[in-house]
Amino acid sequence: MMDKMSKKLLSQRKNGYDRLTQAERREMNEYCENYKRFLAEGCTERECVEEILRLAQARGYRALRRGEVPQPGDKVYRVEAGKAIVLAVIGSEPLEQGVVVCGAHIDNPRLDLKPNPLYEDGGGLARFKTHYYGGIRKYQWVSIPLALHGVVYRADGTRVRVRLGDEPGDPQLTIPDLLPHLADKQAKEPLWQAIKGEDLNVVVGSEPYPDEEEKERFKLQIMALLHEKYDITEDDFNTAELCVVPAFRPTDVGLDRSMIGGYGQDDRVCAFACLQALFDAENTLKRTGICLLVDKEEIGSYGVTGMDSSYFDRFLSDLCRGAGADYNTCIEHSFCLSSDVTAAYDDNYAFAYDKRNAGRVNGGLGIAKYTGSRGKSGASDASAELMAYARRVLDGEGVLWHVCEMGKVDEGGGGTISHYMARRGIPTLDGGTPLLAMHAPFEVSAKLDCYMTYRAARAFYNA
Ligand code: MN
Ligand code: MN
Repeated sequence: MMDKMSKKLLSQRKNGYDRLTQAERREMNEYCENYKRFLAEGCTERECVEEILRLAQARGYRALRRGEVPQPGDKVYRVEAGKAIVLAVIGSEPLEQGVVVCGAHIDNPRLDLKPNPLYEDGGGLARFKTHYYGGIRKYQWVSIPLALHGVVYRADGTRVRVRLGDEPGDPQLTIPDLLPHLADKQAKEPLWQAIKGEDLNVVVGSEPYPDEEEKERFKLQIMALLHEKYDITEDDFNTAELCVVPAFRPTDVGLDRSMIGGYGQDDRVCAFACLQALFDAENTLKRTGICLLVDKEEIGSYGVTGMDSSYFDRFLSDLCRGAGADYNTCIEHSFCLSSDVTAAYDDNYAFAYDKRNAGRVNGGLGIAKYTGSRGKSGASDASAELMAYARRVLDGEGVLWHVCEMGKVDEGGGGTISHYMARRGIPTLDGGTPLLAMHAPFEVSAKLDCYMTYRAARAFYNA
């Protein structure tokens, strides 16, 4: 019998589960358990770098020394200011053949403490003032359990790490919302301004300092506790980076456990995929593989640890110089997967998406030929040639993928680190995991898509 014409001519895209083999399903579940552990370990870019270092060093990675001659099979890394990390496995081919970079970011939206955070204001409560980092919807951050992560430097330069609210039994923090009984006025305000930036003040205590002669007894009591636990004083907040993050632990979502819920999946879901793929491609690489995990993407990629910084260039030029390879030739033959999450079509908010061109849950890797907003502005548009290359690589390895845009044309948009890589002259493709509720305190990914993002990175490293 002849095949139906539609089967020959029209796209036959399937739900990922209709293509997944039993072996893949097992690998997917194992991969996702490791991913959830990674997600729980690193809640800030600093903690992520520490966890990545731990994983890499256990596999024999070591710090790259300037001037050393890299040998095939060498596994090296470099950390930038404790907040970004680049890892490389030297391939069997010379560096003039180019490198394969898989890059993602490890910062994510949160509430940073202000430099002078601690106060009380007549309510019998001590509070921290915050300044939000990245694109948050402020109303999502009230009346949820919060944790405190970061570092404080004392006057003598010593450092103390803070991590509070994650372990069972830890106290947690919160920003109590207004009760509905008294919210008539507030409820009439537009969603984006009902909760204001200056309202995101975290409750940290309610017990007064015992000495009734003291002023600001609620504030003082908290400072006394912090001094006892961390040996810090109020001025030390000026030399601190303390982040308020959701205290939710990563967890399976859905009665079928097909999804993962957790904080910071943008973009740790892709960061972990790029990292694990490099680990698993260590012995099969032809071209040198580089995993680049950067900070500051959520606020524009500026600063020494952001993608706008030269640290990636210095790392790559150190590799090239050591190997006696021409840097420009290396750049010209390189490829980069800029792996960042994209929006998954949400039928609950269908108005925001063009469903024929939206990222899909269980559609595998979501490739964005271009990102940007208002007419592709700010996009690093991948060429049709590059798309065709990616298609061959991914199909060749049986990786499930689809091409998508982030929302309707006039609805908004977003950017990634891709244009920074492209500016260096490296052909760069945007591709990542579709998420539901991106930038929310509790983001949702599909396990199949997490796994396929990893498979995609592995396919590119090995291509
Ligand atoms: Mn992102
Ligand atoms: Mn983001």
